[in-house]
Amino acid sequence: MAFALHINMERCTGCNNCVVACPVDALELYTLDPVTDEKIYKVKNGKATVLDFNAELCAGCGVCVKACPYDVIQLTGRWETGSKPLVEEEA
Ligand code: SF4
Ligand code: SF4
Repeated sequence: MAFALHINMERCTGCNNCVVACPVDALELYTLDPVTDEKIYKVKNGKATVLDFNAELCAGCGVCVKACPYDVIQLTGRWETGSKPLVEEEA
């Protein structure tokens, strides 16, 4: 896998900008129903709970990183060339 996204869900507002911006639909925002485990809604109480990332689809274009108004997304892998090293935060 060439790319990995690091998403700080504490800061994600669920605005959906990154999902819409991704040209290959590699991102999906949802919240799991605690009982059925089904994907039920995208945002709960103003917070997204899961931003799913499909590494198989991701082209590493960085569009989602730029689309996020809150600098929540960091992309590592081939695209990080020329950018500062990224440190993964513990959830
Ligand atoms: S880097 Fe590009 S292809 Fe990958 S998830 Fe972000 S917008 Fe989509
Ligand atoms: S653009 Fe940023 S704040 Fe909005 S849903 Fe994506 S990661 Fe969350």
